[in-house]
Amino acid sequence: MSTDEASFAAILTDRLDKAGETGTRLSFWWRDDDAVAPSPALDRLLALRARFDVPLALAVIPEGATQALAERLASEPAVAVLQHGWAHANHQPAGEKNAELGNGRPADKVLAELARGRERLSGLFGDRFRPVLVPPWNRIAADVADRIPQVGLTGLSTFARADGRPHRVNTHLDPVAWKTTRSFAGWDDAAATIAAELDRRIAGDAEPFGLLTHHLVHDAALWRFVEVFLEVTARHPAVTWPDTDTLFGL
Ligand SMILES: [Zn+2]
Repeated sequence: MSTDEASFAAILTDRLDKAGETGTRLSFWWRDDDAVAPSPALDRLLALRARFDVPLALAVIPEGATQALAERLASEPAVAVLQHGWAHANHQPAGEKNAELGNGRPADKVLAELARGRERLSGLFGDRFRPVLVPPWNRIAADVADRIPQVGLTGLSTFARADGRPHRVNTHLDPVAWKTTRSFAGWDDAAATIAAELDRRIAGDAEPFGLLTHHLVHDAALWRFVEVFLEVTARHPAVTWPDTDTLFGL
């Protein structure tokens, strides 16, 4: 049986109710990637956030980040700015998966670039910038990841189950079908991912659950997915929405 919007909401609600019955409080968070400038899509993202009154972590690409973006976010105190690499450029050899912070370059060089990005975001966004690194394509070489505190970056966020190390908080659901339509991967796919992720947490794993979105590629179907997700989760009594500093232990 295929899942539609209503049955997706029912599956999600059922898991949250179950968590509530067992006294489990689920931590949810929302990360959106690839911002550099204001846009109608960013306005829509911020309006959705405001409507449901949940925190939003916006991963901004330092190289192209504009003063106009800083001005647009100045009136959005519930939005934290995270560092999305440096330029979102791929440096891996041909045939390998894309990565900006991978092992295709010496770690010293990658870290110098990250230091520059951190300075740029601090300068543009002030305290709104939080020292959390979001690697482009969610990929980072282990030696670079270990050394990011040397350039003032405390937190790290990628995709998939986190390794339990301090200051590392990941995302788990990306609703975009990147390899095919670049639109919504579908209610079936989203329901299956969420059910498995929440069952793991109801069974005792305290890892926060992260939604990952990309406002610049959202079509109507993707916007509708985010809306339904927030309709169910934003006010559910079993769900808490910690802010970025709490999540990452900053
Ligand atoms: Zn990205």
